[in-house]
Amino acid sequence: MKFDPASQIQDLEQFGEFGGVNPAITDSATFTFMQAKTMLETFQGEAEGCFLYSRHWNPSNKYLADAMAAMEGTEAAWVTASGMGAITSAILQLVDTADHIVASRTCYGGTYAFLMNYLPKFKIDVTFVDITNLDEVKAAMRDNTKIVYTETMTNPMLQISDIPELAEIAHSKDAKLMVDNTFTPMMVTPAKFGADVVVYSMTKFVNGKNDCVSGAICGSVEYISSLIDVNNGTAMLLGPVLDPLRSSNILKNLHTLHIRMKQHSSNAMYLAKNLKKIGLDVLYPGMEEHPDHATMKKLMNPEFGFGGMIAIDVKTAENAAAVMEMMEADGVGYLAVSLGYFKTLFSNSGKSTSSEVPEEEQKSMGMSEGLIRFSVGLDNDIERTYQKIKKCLVELKLI
Ligand SMILES: *Cc1c(COP(=O)(O)O)cnc(C)c1O
Repeated sequence: MKFDPASQIQDLEQFGEFGGVNPAITDSATFTFMQAKTMLETFQGEAEGCFLYSRHWNPSNKYLADAMAAMEGTEAAWVTASGMGAITSAILQLVDTADHIVASRTCYGGTYAFLMNYLPKFKIDVTFVDITNLDEVKAAMRDNTKIVYTETMTNPMLQISDIPELAEIAHSKDAKLMVDNTFTPMMVTPAKFGADVVVYSMTKFVNGKNDCVSGAICGSVEYISSLIDVNNGTAMLLGPVLDPLRSSNILKNLHTLHIRMKQHSSNAMYLAKNLKKIGLDVLYPGMEEHPDHATMKKLMNPEFGFGGMIAIDVKTAENAAAVMEMMEADGVGYLAVSLGYFKTLFSNSGKSTSSEVPEEEQKSMGMSEGLIRFSVGLDNDIERTYQKIKKCLVELKLI
């Protein structure tokens, strides 16, 4: 049967304490026990369903985590105070000193900086590869490789990872495949293709309101339990826990994610096609000429479309600055990093979200200094938005 992430969430029955249709917010750091024995069992991880302390579990966080696990088709999940909190905890749980990671060279700037600059402290070696080149991935694998790390859709080139193939490569060496699915919630379900761990910045599409940062880690019960083990769990000991007030808000927003993704996708497709028609260089996985279009079609849950992210190339950083400033003044959206917001956001990748990636690497991934990444909003009249963008491009003589 077809896996439908939206129905998975819809089928959850999570009620408030007094039958509220939204689960109650548990505004407590600690939890009381009737019997001392149960407290000890909870510490030892032996008492089912008992809450001990909110850095470990809070009922509000559990509702959201259960909904994320349902959406991803994983056994369990845990929610974090940021996407980076999720990514760093998820990685550190799986590696020891002297281990090795194979990672996509086009991953999120913060993730890239963590892998490149931070992990060497622990003598953990990372090989960066073109994740769409499976021979390069295979050749990079070593006996001590513990993780193959990628993003379903990479930033900012919008490459698509062939998740089933990568899972096979990782598993043949007893490594785990970890996938950041931030750009493609509902559109792609990585665990169904063999990903062992799926991480999220919920800051983006999942929450969709740009009012907080948050993250999630989805995986097996065994793995999630190891993360929050009181003696050696990375999440438990480093403590990047999400606030339960935020959790309850994000859960409500998650219930409209399927509608939002469809609108983001159809708006992005409209802009991509029309901007291409007037002669602009456009990157969008929904277009047949995109190098990873076929891979995307193989992976996608089709009703959610090809996503809300497009990139256009206006050749120079100066052009990019001029067009972004004019688009902001004309009400196309905001010059801002981040994505998945109800309004359109745009930024010049080389001067913002990929600025942690050295210029050499930017060049080798084929990234132009004039690349503008758009997170296309939920605009009701996308033709009107398109006309505004076109006017800016014409006035600046870019088309
Ligand atoms: C934003 C982002 C992150 C980091 O998430 P934060 O919530 O900002 O910590 C990680 N991966 C991707 C793909 C992102 O877009």
